[in-house]
Amino acid sequence: MTAYPYEVHEYDVVVVGAGGAGLRATLGMAEQGLRTACVTKVFPTRSHTVAAQGGIAASLANMGPDNWQWHMYDTVKGSDWLGDTDAMEYLAREAPKAVYELEHYGVPFSRTEDGRIYQRPFGGHTTEFGEGPPVQRTCAAADRTGHAMLHTLYGQSLKQKAEFYIEYFALDLIMTEGRCTGVVAWKLDDGTMHVFNAKMVVLATGGYGRAYFSATSAHTCTGDGNGMVARAGLPLQDMEFVQFHPTGIYGAGCLITEGARGEGGYLTNSEGERFMERYAPTYKDLASRDVVSRCMTIEIREGRGVGPNKDHIHLHLNHLPKEALDLRLPGISESARIFAGVDVTKEPIPVLPTVHYNMGGIPTNYWGEVLNPTADNPDAVFPGLMAVGEAACASVHGANRLGSNSLIDLVVFGRAAAIRAGEIVDPKERNRPVDGAGVDKAFARFDGLRHAKGSVSTAELRLEMQVTMQADAAVFRTDKTLADGVEKMTAIAGKMDDLRVTDRSLVWNSDLMETLELTNLMPNALATIVAAEARKESRGAHAHEDWPKRDDENWRVHSLAYVNGTDVRLSSRPVHLEPLTKQEDGGIDLKKIAPKARVY
Ligand SMILES: Cc1cc2nc3c(=O)[nH]c(=O)nc-3n(C[C@H](O)[C@H](O)[C@H](O)COP(=O)(O)OP(=O)(O)OC[C@H]3O[C@@H](n4cnc5c(N)ncnc54)[C@H](O)[C@@H]3O)c2cc1C
Repeated sequence: MTAYPYEVHEYDVVVVGAGGAGLRATLGMAEQGLRTACVTKVFPTRSHTVAAQGGIAASLANMGPDNWQWHMYDTVKGSDWLGDTDAMEYLAREAPKAVYELEHYGVPFSRTEDGRIYQRPFGGHTTEFGEGPPVQRTCAAADRTGHAMLHTLYGQSLKQKAEFYIEYFALDLIMTEGRCTGVVAWKLDDGTMHVFNAKMVVLATGGYGRAYFSATSAHTCTGDGNGMVARAGLPLQDMEFVQFHPTGIYGAGCLITEGARGEGGYLTNSEGERFMERYAPTYKDLASRDVVSRCMTIEIREGRGVGPNKDHIHLHLNHLPKEALDLRLPGISESARIFAGVDVTKEPIPVLPTVHYNMGGIPTNYWGEVLNPTADNPDAVFPGLMAVGEAACASVHGANRLGSNSLIDLVVFGRAAAIRAGEIVDPKERNRPVDGAGVDKAFARFDGLRHAKGSVSTAELRLEMQVTMQADAAVFRTDKTLADGVEKMTAIAGKMDDLRVTDRSLVWNSDLMETLELTNLMPNALATIVAAEARKESRGAHAHEDWPKRDDENWRVHSLAYVNGTDVRLSSRPVHLEPLTKQEDGGIDLKKIAPKARVY
């Protein structure tokens, strides 16, 4: 093996990732007086969070009655009763505080006439525990909410003297005697190696949308943190639940926010029919995402798709006043023009359900601490390691995430992780010495890939994986597609040992970087399809045609997947049914959130 000299950086906390979750955690840690580094492979404000358009959910009640209990109910129902009750309560209760903090940090929210934060309707967000009309709960900065959040949080983190290591690619965690003691990173622009030795490592590396062929997520969304955790022998949770957003632009994949339907947009089929009225008579186009994506897929399958191949659906905004489009949805008007060649004031936008969000990820408690379930303690914490944001599974989204509940997840749990770290990380304590064996292990893997001399290129193998996942772990699944998919994906993952890397350089080597990313995507993809094959029911985003009903008796459990090469071992964890606060102390009435059929 080539010897890699490295520089050591000592911190109390190192956060990997500078999206909304990573920046909120970084800022919070620095505010607590912890010496904090944030390591990121892309410039902070280029993280995928920048693309979040629609907004961030919190029951501020600026546009009409609302409260945290209604928000919690909608989240429980949205999750199809798979989310953890304590975490969902924490999310809904802390959401308003987290949004007001963002406002005070400087996020330029859109405003109402009287100067309060503007809120729009979003799918699955209702009043009166799902009995009342849709609620306006989603706080927005026009259709550039994520952009506004990242710029504000980055500025605030710099002000608090957090230190940024930008365009550093984290390779692997350093695991020492049952705890995480740091992370090894490769600096992309000069090829040097770096060891971040820390008392707490926080993974905020985002989702793995790029395991699929057509996704709304950035090319950087390769599930790197999940890959690192899998390699360390820790489980991934609920990976079978992948959200398809109803309105990706046909052909291009890029997103038209649900806010477009929130502002009055609607879907039609080839007969010009507003078909959602038939499937979801109450909430229509604002039913939950998994529901709308399935209805669109059924319309297309039954021959009512639009276009020459009858293979997509129309989204209409052309009936909305131009001023409203300019004010509330300027970005998507531009996207529709560039990516679909459509003037939204005149014509409908061609759209198709597109992979958008990963409900599964690294299991954590509601403080962001990573879980390493054991036979006697399913909630055992793995010391020194936290995960937040889309990489994590807290789990508040269960089997299906509601629109605008991710941005709030980022800031609520980024903040919670910082509060917890403030309690358990002692800045006066000395760091453990660098674990040389742990560092060598990471270098050995890196070096092996750098010199990989097999017969398959990274791009070829990645495409095979993406096409297989798109075909076999789709909106609708059957025993057959899933069994075929598992077989194909196992064979594809088997070819990882036969990769060919042609560029051996250590500086700006995109071939090597994409290969490292593929080693992270692959365990995510495998865990997704294997867990999907095992789950014999339909729940949230997992729509199984041979098992069309939800089966609470056997399957109201989190699935755990331990991935080792081509081998995936499955196990499970109970769902947390207990809320944080008892009803007599002001908590939610558990009868309100008892499982029932999920209709919109
Ligand atoms: C187009 C689009 C629109 C969306 N709109 C909304 C919306 O309106 N409302 C909503 O609630 N949700 C929305 N979502 C979902 C939400 O935006 C994402 O779930 C969320 O932004 C993820 O944030 P994150 O901080 O977890 O990760 P990301 O923002 O993806 O950031 C990941 C970070 O990790 C770093 N990183 C990753 N791997 C490594 C590595 N190996 N080494 C170093 N650094 C690494 C990256 O550099 C980056 O900084 C949208 C998603 C998409 C794709």
